[in-house]
Amino acid sequence: MSIKIDRDRCVGCQRCTVVCPGSLIEMQAGKAVMKYPRDCWGCASCVKECPAEAIAFFLGADIGGSGSTMTVSESGDVLHWKIHCWDGTVKVIDVDRKNANQY
Ligand code: SF4
Ligand code: SF4
Repeated sequence: MSIKIDRDRCVGCQRCTVVCPGSLIEMQAGKAVMKYPRDCWGCASCVKECPAEAIAFFLGADIGGSGSTMTVSESGDVLHWKIHCWDGTVKVIDVDRKNANQY
């Protein structure tokens, strides 16, 4: 499991390098670079922290993703998880942080 960083979207804020518990992401020439993809355990912390939607999380076949990717943006307390499917379609799942732990 790993992530993909879009250099064109990256604004160089370094948040992903700080939040990654394994220090797997580094900055190179002002852009974030995934240095150790094989060591990523898919916690998605960097995906949620990125303010530019520059980090995509791979959804492998083992969790039913068939190579799709997932990004996230936020507005207020609501996280908008976007599933970018292999056929070009995008599905959005909205999660309100205030109600995230109710179950
Ligand atoms: S998903 Fe988690 S472990 Fe993987 S690079 Fe992002 S913060 Fe690090
Ligand atoms: S959090 Fe996003 S915008 Fe900031 S350095 Fe990382 S990839 Fe770039």
